[in-house]
Amino acid sequence: MAVLTDTHAHLDFPEFEGQLDAVIARAREAGVHRIITIGIGRESCRKSIAIAEKYDHVFAVVGLHPCNVLDPGAMDFLEELPALARHPKVVALGETGMDYHHLPSRELAGRKEESVFTALQAGTPEGMQAEIADGAMKAAQAEAFKAQLDLAVELGRNVVIHQRAAWDDTLDILRPYTGKLRGVFHCFGGTPEAAEELVTMGHLVSFTGIVTFKNAALVQETVQAVAPDGYMVETDCPYLAPVPFRGKTCEPAHVRLIAEKIAALRGVTLDQVAADTERTAEAFFKL
Ligand SMILES: [Zn+2]
Ligand SMILES: [Zn+2]
Repeated sequence: MAVLTDTHAHLDFPEFEGQLDAVIARAREAGVHRIITIGIGRESCRKSIAIAEKYDHVFAVVGLHPCNVLDPGAMDFLEELPALARHPKVVALGETGMDYHHLPSRELAGRKEESVFTALQAGTPEGMQAEIADGAMKAAQAEAFKAQLDLAVELGRNVVIHQRAAWDDTLDILRPYTGKLRGVFHCFGGTPEAAEELVTMGHLVSFTGIVTFKNAALVQETVQAVAPDGYMVETDCPYLAPVPFRGKTCEPAHVRLIAEKIAALRGVTLDQVAADTERTAEAFFKL
């Protein structure tokens, strides 16, 4: 049976509380013999390491997620990160990166039905306040991203990158690190050209259950075009369950359905996808 690695799971999330033995057993039955669990902040990273200590074939990635940079004490956590990152079961830094989809003004706009966007245009005090809040979050994200990239270089590790609605700024920050580390742009949803640009810089993309969705023509095109050594597979569980589990809790076993869909899209066997992605994951995470 083809063996696979779920390269991006959140096993520390409450959805899996008390369920991990069963979740990991189901993954094994599905041929998912290895799971990389990703921390997003202080508590999440500590839990992820504890889970990796408990299960032989689970490894951890530790970092501060861009959506968490304004949480109380979050930036201080960056000082604790080097010690956590040196743990023997930690295989990369992240997830880190840039996310402009969840900026304060957008959250406000969601609550007030676009009034903030109108206010922004009008330059009202409310609009200016939203603009300042957005700027503060973007600056904190950039600072945290750079700190984690620097740490990765220092420790000889690669980086799990979260990018949403912030492509240009993410690449601007990452560019000086070209050749010094590799990043995987997880849950990749970009064009074939964007994926190729990353692979040319030495980076990778990884695909989630979104590749099985009906309305995912663009990412399916990218799946077909990307180089065999340019991608990995992930669930991003508990989110993004593939068809036929869409909308339910996703778990690492589902990475098999994602790999099967990728095989069908690329016109190769599941064994081929498994062989390619295992070799890529082992090199990237230095397993
Ligand atoms: Zn992410
Ligand atoms: Zn994630």
